[in-house]
Amino acid sequence: MTLAGTIPDSVPTPPARRASGRPILEIRDLTVDYGYGDERVHALRGVSLTLNEGEVLGLAGESGCGKSTLVYAATRLLPPPGLISGGQVLYYPEDGGQPVDVLRQPEDELRESRWQDTAIVFQGAMNSLNPVYRIGTQITDAIAAHRPGMSRAQRDERARELLSMVGIAPNRIRSYPHQLSGGMRQRVMIAMALALEPRVLIMDEPTTALDVVMQRQIVEQIIELRDRMGFAVIFITHDVSLLIEVADRIAIMYAGEIVEHGPASTMYRKPRHPYTLGLLNSFPPLHGPKQELTGIPGSPPDLQALPSGCRFHPRCPYAFDTCSTVTPTLAHTGVPGESNRQVACWLNENESLLPAPLHITA
Ligand code: SF4
Repeated sequence: MTLAGTIPDSVPTPPARRASGRPILEIRDLTVDYGYGDERVHALRGVSLTLNEGEVLGLAGESGCGKSTLVYAATRLLPPPGLISGGQVLYYPEDGGQPVDVLRQPEDELRESRWQDTAIVFQGAMNSLNPVYRIGTQITDAIAAHRPGMSRAQRDERARELLSMVGIAPNRIRSYPHQLSGGMRQRVMIAMALALEPRVLIMDEPTTALDVVMQRQIVEQIIELRDRMGFAVIFITHDVSLLIEVADRIAIMYAGEIVEHGPASTMYRKPRHPYTLGLLNSFPPLHGPKQELTGIPGSPPDLQALPSGCRFHPRCPYAFDTCSTVTPTLAHTGVPGESNRQVACWLNENESLLPAPLHITA
């Protein structure tokens, strides 16, 4: 018997690509605006981030911090009035050839690479299925668009394989979306995204609408599939505690910028930015004794009237004079052994200012 959330051994999966540590997607200095003229707001300001082969990169932050804008801009799926006003998004091909700038790629090449190189499971994916088509038809349509040489029988067979891979009985291929539970519909969306064995899978809040048990099953399944197939994942969520469990690295976003970035394990044990600390304190701890959830006071800033200096200073319990006038930039902490850690906070410039919860220990 196969437990929901595990891949049956009988399902063929391609050999895993190795997690080589080589970049697969490199976002450089990406800037996105919403609106035009006087109404224009900067939704992303100079964001740089690299996804490596085979890794899970978590993007966390409150609603409106720019997580979804970042990935939709990086895949050129940003709807109007979103406008990419600067930067590059380099995709490194599997054969080691020259990287392609996705933002300047011709439309036909971009269409070809979508789903095949980079696939997305959209926010609210449970409602993304067409209610009047059987799920098998929806999966095979996606395959037919990219693999015109496959016969109908081959496409159907592939759809059955994909359903098995995500823990759904292959005979459900003839089911309509309304005949499936919320968790099953979400799994169908994951199966569709993996239909062409992409190298990058982007998941935009894939488990938000699910109960915690189903959430865990889906997350475990994504990681199991990643281990077997070797794709890299960008996992977007507001639940940083979930990322601690699944991500290799985490980038924390606030008001359109990355404010902390580093390995998931060290970020959990030692957050360096007060906002990361606040996010961690907004969810029950995964281990250890119960503690009171403190959350973060206030709400994210209006992008049309951003605070001066550090964008987080009106909500930061550790703010001091400099914070309201000078904007900190994302920089390495300088702590020995933390070369892969970056923080945008003045406290990290001067260890004597650090409050106990953020105190640096190597
Ligand atoms: Fe808080 Fe100042 Fe650090 Fe901003 S720079 S997070 S206001 S301590």
